[in-house]
Amino acid sequence: MPWDHRGWHAGGAANNTHIGFEICEPAGFSYKSGSVMVGYDAAKQEDYFRKAWQNTVELCVMLCKKYGLNENDIICHSEGYKLGIASNHADVMHWFPKHGENMDTFRKAVKKALENSTDTNTDIGIGDMVEFKDSVKNYYPGSVEVPTWVKNDYYHRVTQTLYKGKPVIKGGKECVLLGKKVKKSGGQEIAGINTWVAKENLAIVNSIPDNKGNRTYTVQKGDTLWRIAEKELGRGTRYPEIKELNGLTSDTIYPGQVLKLPE
Ligand SMILES: [Zn+2]
Repeated sequence: MPWDHRGWHAGGAANNTHIGFEICEPAGFSYKSGSVMVGYDAAKQEDYFRKAWQNTVELCVMLCKKYGLNENDIICHSEGYKLGIASNHADVMHWFPKHGENMDTFRKAVKKALENSTDTNTDIGIGDMVEFKDSVKNYYPGSVEVPTWVKNDYYHRVTQTLYKGKPVIKGGKECVLLGKKVKKSGGQEIAGINTWVAKENLAIVNSIPDNKGNRTYTVQKGDTLWRIAEKELGRGTRYPEIKELNGLTSDTIYPGQVLKLPE
């Protein structure tokens, strides 16, 4: 459903004023009396939760920017019920507290991400292709030296920026994980050095000389534009770029369809 279509989601007047979306919970537990989670292992699910949390923050940042909203416009279903504009559901407050979070910490995370996203052009994030700056000697202060081939023969793709939901600081510097490498000659993408590297040692590479033009992707059963963007571009929020590049006017795609992918 397009974001600006009115759907039946909150079950009350919130449908007229709010964008609704669901967050998938992990498997492996059941429910009692509506929304009480039975047999939920929070420690085991922490990784899943942090990924879902991060996705949700990024989605809210994208929607805030697109529709001129801010974190204070974000409410959960149970808050909508208390405001008298949504039906009586407990989500997400039946789940977030199991991981030490609530809607206030969520809004805070969105606020922070909104502030950080104003300089997206210079900030290095998941999916970005980077190279080592010429002057760099170590991955981060105090680490082993960067081998010459790592610097000279390859670009690198950032595949992770957080560990357990938190920035990774090494040698006093914020680091990103380089999980893929791309041969400078030919552009072939292969397994990476899998090393955390200080952001300040890296520069974003905007275009690489390739001989194939745009990469393409064949839509599989169950795919959505969001999922393809997440899988292929590293960030679900980049899905409008796929739409634009392929001249799509709606979010509908079908299995077998071949889509061009942006860099
Ligand atoms: Zn609900």
